[in-house]
Parts: sequence; C-alpha cells; structure tokens
Amino acid sequence: MSCAVTDGVAISCLCCAVHNCPLPLPSSHACFCIPHAHLEYVCIFPGCNAPTQLDMQTSEQEEEEEEEDEEDEENKVQVKVQDKQEQLQPKYKGLHFGRCRMHNKQFVVCPCSIVLAWATFYGSEGMFSVAPFLMSILPTCKAMPEVLFFDNNCTLGQYLIGRPEAKHFKETVLVVDVFHYKTKHADNNVYCSTHCNLASFPELYDLASETWTFNSSACKQTNTWICKYQGQLQEMSAIQFEFFLDEVIKARNEAIVEGLEH
Ligand SMILES: [Zn+2]
Ligand SMILES: [Zn+2]
Ligand SMILES: [Zn+2]
Repeated sequence: MSCAVTDGVAISCLCCAVHNCPLPLPSSHACFCIPHAHLEYVCIFPGCNAPTQLDMQTSEQEEEEEEEDEEDEENKVQVKVQDKQEQLQPKYKGLHFGRCRMHNKQFVVCPCSIVLAWATFYGSEGMFSVAPFLMSILPTCKAMPEVLFFDNNCTLGQYLIGRPEAKHFKETVLVVDVFHYKTKHADNNVYCSTHCNLASFPELYDLASETWTFNSSACKQTNTWICKYQGQLQEMSAIQFEFFLDEVIKARNEAIVEGLEH
C-alpha cells in the first residue's frame, strides 16, 4: 500500500504584491515584478485606479476620506482609552501596504520522511492550488498514492465533488492525521467523519503492533526541520530562496536514503 502526506508550511520570501503572481522582484525594495511595476503608481484601494500621491500608496481621494474620518473622531466628546489600540490599526484592512510575502510552501512527503515534491503557493493554500499541484507531481491515477494524508482533506474531498479532477483522485483515500482529526475536525461534520476519519479504515491500523500503518506526522517533522532555516530565508530574494530550499531538501533526502540503506 502506498502513502504520501501533504501539508503547507509558513516559510516565505518577498514576492510581487499582485495576488498569485510568481514573477521575481527586480530588487529587495521593490513591491512589484517588472511587468507589474506600473502598479507602484496606482492607488491600492480596491476599485480605485487613480494615481498615487508622492511617496504614498493611495490616491488623493482616500486622503480626503481619511481627513473626514479624523474630523468625525475629533467631534466625539470622549474617546475611551481602550479604543486607542483600535485607532492604531491600519485603516484599510486586507490591503497590501508595502512589500508582500508569498503565502506558503507546500510539501508532499513519504512516511519515511523523504520529500517527494515541494511548491510555492503565492496567494493561498486553497484547493484550487493544492489539487493542481498534486496532479502535476503525481500525473496519473496510478502515480497517486493509495492513501493521502492532508489536514484539509475534508475540504479537498468536497472541492472535488462534481469536478473533472475527481477522476484523478478516485483510487486515493483522503484521510486526516488522527491527532489533527481529534483536535481540529468536528464530530458533527458528516462528510469529515465518514470520509476522512482514520478510524473508518481498519486496514490502516496494525493490530499486532497496535499502531497506525503509516507515519502521518512525516510532513509535520519536515516542517519543523525546515522552519529552522526561517531566519536565513526571511530576507532572501526569490531566486536565492528557491535555490537554498532545493539544495537543503535534496541533501536531507540523500541523507535519509543513506540512513535507510544501512
Ligand atoms: Zn507581478
Ligand atoms: Zn484611490
Ligand atoms: Zn475535516
């Protein structure tokens, strides 16, 4: 029986501020890649395409609105002290002020801890990123593992319903790691408890040793290992970041293979 574990890890470097744009930045101070460089001078407020003011990321219009807000604020008789903290929060929640970071790295790991594949997700760890990634590295139904662990498998399973991609996953059981399942997945989620609960798959439990057949925490262990490099990765350019990760992952894989052979 074959098995793989996939998970996202929050290590990242700076990237273009346009959602999901994979192109590298021309310098460590840039917010945009070269094809998107013109956006540096367009207001970042959604729906506003006005030019920005000097050394700002918003246009005159947002400036005026902000002034009005401030006047309203001054007109209030008393401002409670505990509200102060709230006022310090940025006005335009969810907008990208300054430089952007890529969302996460996604790993696919064997239960023996060898990393099969890794990819950068720029925008999010959504299913529209996860499903095509898995299909690209495991390109046929046969190449897919019989068991795939993923903390978000209930979302993936439901995402696949009625989609053409579902064919690709039809031979694969999508389960959730037993510890994660107990702590994070509600018992009252019918889809999750019938499709992703390891307890519904007795063939994945070894009665003799009273353990689960597969080491589903292999990916978590890899994530913990890679996070040790976070400090170094922080300020790298995308090219250095990808190169560094490729090299350390390959070296670790080789060391694991060597360990398994002896
Ligand atoms: Zn870009
Ligand atoms: Zn604007
Ligand atoms: Zn679930």
